[in-house]
Amino acid sequence: MTDQNEAELSGVPRKRKVAHQSTTLGNHKLHPSTMMMGYGFDPALSEGSLKPPIFLTSTYVFESAADGKRFFEGITGVRPGGAEGLVYSRFNGPNQEILEDRLALWEDAEDALVFSSGMSAIATTFLALVRPGDVIVHSAPLYAATETLIARILGRLGVTFLDFPAGATQAEIEEVMRRAAANGRIAAIYLESPANPTNALVDVEAVRDARAAVLGGGDELPPIIIDNTFLGPIWAQPLRQGADLVIYSLTKYVGGHSDLVAGSVLGSKAAILPVRMTRNTIGTITDPHTAWMLLRSLETLELRMDRAGTNAKLVCEYLRDHPKVERVGYLGFLEPGSRQHDIYTRHCHGAGSTFSVIVRGGEAEAFRLLDHLKLVKLAVSLGGTESLASHPAAMTHLSVAPARKAEFGITDNLVRVSIGVERPDDLIADFDQALAAV
Ligand SMILES: *Cc1c(COP(=O)(O)O)cnc(C)c1O
Repeated sequence: MTDQNEAELSGVPRKRKVAHQSTTLGNHKLHPSTMMMGYGFDPALSEGSLKPPIFLTSTYVFESAADGKRFFEGITGVRPGGAEGLVYSRFNGPNQEILEDRLALWEDAEDALVFSSGMSAIATTFLALVRPGDVIVHSAPLYAATETLIARILGRLGVTFLDFPAGATQAEIEEVMRRAAANGRIAAIYLESPANPTNALVDVEAVRDARAAVLGGGDELPPIIIDNTFLGPIWAQPLRQGADLVIYSLTKYVGGHSDLVAGSVLGSKAAILPVRMTRNTIGTITDPHTAWMLLRSLETLELRMDRAGTNAKLVCEYLRDHPKVERVGYLGFLEPGSRQHDIYTRHCHGAGSTFSVIVRGGEAEAFRLLDHLKLVKLAVSLGGTESLASHPAAMTHLSVAPARKAEFGITDNLVRVSIGVERPDDLIADFDQALAAV
């Protein structure tokens, strides 16, 4: 997108918002946390309103026919980077654009798009990239709906897939890519890290190097796409390790209050362009009200994730020493010297607040723990202000075949926990009384 000064110089006043405010104060570079309070919005353009109004309109009035033409050049992709002005609410809107500008700041991404859900972000991205006969290479396991999308829905369109386990080495990833390339054009390399619910990390740098080793360095390389919902954007920023597109379910940590469903895709303008064109065509953009809620959420993103991360460490330390707990699958407890620990130190700034508790026993013991927790609510999802616990084998991963469950360690005694921003001693007291009843 052109910035305001450029637009003014070309005689085109920008009406929708301040396009790109400064990210510095003199020589001082501002932190994204600070910029969440004002970046990309000029109150003077909205009656002085401190906060952006919610723009409830389906269409926008052009000042001239020439403006309309120029804006459509952005919509149709004649010029990359999206429309210069507002056109129609299936393509863009002020609330969504301010949100996209602010999301991009956290990862120094050139461009960002917001979607009606994490899954619509993932589906729109795949739809933009695949053709019949293509192969998708992906890490495993993936979020269950993503696995269904790839195997069943894209499968119906003549797209096949090959996967490698999260944590695979570069040589193992290369081997899978070679087999995939022999089956057809590789349309995308799709990753999810850490894998849910086992927290196994994917080595994005090894994936990048494997792609270069197998497919060379041309322009037509399949993009490396990564679902960064569990650790991003505070604890992991995989564009730095070589990912081309980063995907979020904003429903989780970014939304952070368990009160909305949304998604996003971040990356370079070139990598985003086909995804933007597809979103424009099918209308998977988020609505202005949800975008506004997310702007509010972003103001406290770092505060919330910092607190949740500190809480999770304390709760995990308590759980690790409990006699009824076999093991805690928490990134903060990775064995120094292990491959997973090496990936962690190269890729992550924090261990997150979502982990697994493997209780001694089986489903009965796991269910007793879940049924006796009082503060920690029994619900799927994660990343909210409140702590949640669930049973992947019987709930989110129920449809996963038994052999695959065993392969990925999704056992009957595994409870997944997402820690929120409560007081840590209260959370520990809750686990203490619930474990006493197991
Ligand atoms: C929740 C989730 C999704 C799907 O997001 P929705 O917003 O529910 O569509 C995708 N990936 C991961 C890792 C998730 O946790």
